[in-house]
Amino acid sequence: MTIDIDVLDTQHSDLDDTFRRHAFEHLRDSGAVEVIDVVATSPGGAESAQRTLDVLVARGMAIIENDRLVAFDGLSIQPTKHRMRLGDDSLFTWCPADAVGIPAALGEDGEVVTACPYCSAEIVLSIHAGEPQGDADLILWLPTANCSHVVTQFCPDVNFFCSREHLDAWRSQAGNPEGETLSAEGAAELGRQWQSSRRPHEEAAAARWLDPRPRSDQRPHRRNEGVRLPT
Ligand SMILES: [Zn+2]
Repeated sequence: MTIDIDVLDTQHSDLDDTFRRHAFEHLRDSGAVEVIDVVATSPGGAESAQRTLDVLVARGMAIIENDRLVAFDGLSIQPTKHRMRLGDDSLFTWCPADAVGIPAALGEDGEVVTACPYCSAEIVLSIHAGEPQGDADLILWLPTANCSHVVTQFCPDVNFFCSREHLDAWRSQAGNPEGETLSAEGAAELGRQWQSSRRPHEEAAAARWLDPRPRSDQRPHRRNEGVRLPT
């Protein structure tokens, strides 16, 4: 399956990816971390780490509170309405696409607990080795309106619905906003694209080695121009 996502401009360099893996792992393993520590210990160097972090904060892809990093690349240690179990870790995400996509990108077991915005029913989705299991009726809504700040403008409207009927009913109440839909499997594939920097360094390096295309030909990851899917 090819999903031509045009989501937030996160086309990244190797140094960006190094810091993003580092910060994500810190947050997952340790909870809120001092910004000064996570920047100083980045394997790619503090200067590049600080630059990447500044860009991610400005785009609403990282949150700093009281000099501590509390959310990064969709992963949050502060409660949200989307709970994610990742391996043995209990965490939160900014949207259910991240809650499916992060375990999918890592190839880990997980579980997503969220709620249908129309009927408030709890939705639980299990993930085994990165593959979502179960409910074929589940449908993910992705807004396609322009966005310049991910966590405040894009994530709040990304949701799983119990069914197409509940999505349609919600849309009609919400004034028919523009967007696209994905199955749970499609959400996993989207997450693998968004979270490509999650791959272990060796694997990412090997993939580049095997891939004859220059880096600049690789698919950009952009959320600010909506989402385009093949029909
Ligand atoms: Zn529902």
